[in-house]
Amino acid sequence: MMYLILNRKKVIAICIFLMLGVAFGSFMIIVPRAGGFAKKDSLTVIVDAGHGLPDGGAVGTGGTVEQEINLKIAEKVREVLTAKGINVIMTRETPDSLSTSKNASIREMKIEDMKKRMKIMKKSNADLFISIHMNSYKNSSAKGLRIFYSQNFEDIKPLAENIQSRMSDVTGAKMSVVKTADTKLFLMKNPPLASILVECGFLSNPEEEQNLCDDEYQSRLAWAISDAVEKYYALQKSGQS
Ligand SMILES: [Zn+2]
Repeated sequence: MMYLILNRKKVIAICIFLMLGVAFGSFMIIVPRAGGFAKKDSLTVIVDAGHGLPDGGAVGTGGTVEQEINLKIAEKVREVLTAKGINVIMTRETPDSLSTSKNASIREMKIEDMKKRMKIMKKSNADLFISIHMNSYKNSSAKGLRIFYSQNFEDIKPLAENIQSRMSDVTGAKMSVVKTADTKLFLMKNPPLASILVECGFLSNPEEEQNLCDDEYQSRLAWAISDAVEKYYALQKSGQS
């Protein structure tokens, strides 16, 4: 009996310990943080063209490789943001990933690439990270925009919503709910700065694939993203002064 009572106490102690551990763990993962842009003179945005060879990302029904379109739109975002006086850091400017490993597996190169992107995020002292991607789904009728934001910077949600509504306005693309990013995504799990991932459309949808390859459509997407960013931070700054 004594043995049983002791065991029950031990079980209760272990349960409390585990509950505290889970609570502390959750706090560590999702504790919201606020960006500090309002105190700075100028805004710096990291523009991330998703993927990079040998990882091309999604492939469209017509053979379009995602990394190419990501880079084209990222370059256009840089152009518009720079014209607006916003500092831009690009994670990549060539079709290749950031990996420099030779004789490594694609998986190892992908991990190295992700770590290098994270390093840029940590060292840049930037205010915002925007990752450009294209979507793909087994059902070719899936289409529209998907915007995700990092849950540890939840005050960025209005910007994510703004980006989505502006992109939808200028392209007519279908909107969906703006969500927090999947924490399985390495760069979006617990990033050191406010981060937004933009899925510009579905390469698996023939109509959207055609649009996404169109230079003018890409420019409109880039303008919408950049304009939303500029207006959001201008408002934040004026609210603080
Ligand atoms: Zn992607």
